[in-house]
Amino acid sequence: MGLFVYKFGGTSVGTVERIQAVAHKVKAAHDNGDQIVVVVSAMSGETNRLTGLAAEIQKTPVAREMDVLLSTGEQVTMSLLCMALIELGCSAKSYTGGQVRIVTDNSHTKARIKRIDDKKIHDNLKAGTIVVVAGFQGMDEEGNITTLGRGGSDTTAVALAAALKADECHIYTDVDGVYTTDPRVEPNARRLDSITFEEMLEMASLGTKILQIRSVEFAGKYNVALRVLSSFSEGRGTLITYEEPAVEQALISGIAFNKDEAKLTITGVPDIPGAAFKILGPIADANIEIDMIIQNVADDATTDFTFTVHRNDLAAAKAILTSTSESLGAKSVTTDEKIVKVSIVGVGMRSHAGIASKMFEVFADENINIQMISTSEIKISVVIDEKYLELAVRSLHAAFDLDKEPAQ
Ligand code: ADP
Ligand code: ASP
Ligand code: MG
Repeated sequence: MGLFVYKFGGTSVGTVERIQAVAHKVKAAHDNGDQIVVVVSAMSGETNRLTGLAAEIQKTPVAREMDVLLSTGEQVTMSLLCMALIELGCSAKSYTGGQVRIVTDNSHTKARIKRIDDKKIHDNLKAGTIVVVAGFQGMDEEGNITTLGRGGSDTTAVALAAALKADECHIYTDVDGVYTTDPRVEPNARRLDSITFEEMLEMASLGTKILQIRSVEFAGKYNVALRVLSSFSEGRGTLITYEEPAVEQALISGIAFNKDEAKLTITGVPDIPGAAFKILGPIADANIEIDMIIQNVADDATTDFTFTVHRNDLAAAKAILTSTSESLGAKSVTTDEKIVKVSIVGVGMRSHAGIASKMFEVFADENINIQMISTSEIKISVVIDEKYLELAVRSLHAAFDLDKEPAQ
């Protein structure tokens, strides 16, 4: 008997039948004597549908109203799930994020949770009631509705698990765990029994959308036992763990990719001190996040400078860079949206040399041109033409034997 937070994603609650199936699953756990808090996403496609409606009215929708709009998706699911539970004879109550006092800062559409008042939930649980909370949303100090960014229901679930000191937080989704890479891209991807927080954090920040990055940060910070499982089948799923892997651990644990970035290049920049600051300063001032950067050495006293930003920020970044280019007397500004960043991740990299060269050998054999490279202790990322995404992921997967169980 314990206290569990179960989160069900959009596909898992995508139809009335699926909501009823979730109700059966929750009831079974409750009948078993466990206290259950359920966090739900909007029904699949709903958040996109609402975003589309807003876009028909405003090119850049007002963030406050966007949050009011988007939060309705989760509210629909929570009430339907409670009705399904009540039909099964359970006691169940639904609450919006604001109602259970998930207090956030006021950065609309990407708010951060500041604190949660767990009293109401605990009181309900003690009375034998199943509590269903709308994911992805909270309320700022002034009572305005806020949302936590795409995929934010994961973070609601982990934050509630931390606040309630739950025994485990289960993220139920449409795959039965975390795989070596996205099984939609590489059908030979293998489910991992466990993955370290450090690796999961890298995977999430490098584009693996199975868990929102903040949910992994939260779980790491507050020591929440986090497990990813399937809504549709039984199984142990994948445990996100602190445990360091065995010595014979695979060299890399997974491959992540990110299709959301775009590349900007400014050519013919005078090669003088301060140039990089003049180029990137105004971009940072506009609150645009820069990811990878390269500067080429040229021998005619000018240099080329390339960096990547989120695709949504490309137009704004290009406008800024064009004006910088004029003031610096640079030659040209070009952009490329057809890129993808592919990364290999693994704590095994720390103790093994030659992983980068092995990765580059795979690209050489497949004739894939590498445009940018960046490395850190447990990851190597490259930017390539997006048309090579599948080929790159599958070739790396095979070359690093990710389809095989690592030797024990
Ligand atoms: P939910 O709607 O339940 O939140 P998401 O779509 O956010 O589900 O996340 C599940 C999806 O993540 C899977 O359908 C899968 O295609 C994708 N995915 C990407 N990388 C991985 C990975 N390494 N392991 C498992 N799933 C992955
Ligand atoms: N409904 C939101 C989204 O689609 C939040 C979530 O599902 O986690 O991003
Ligand atoms: Mg998700």
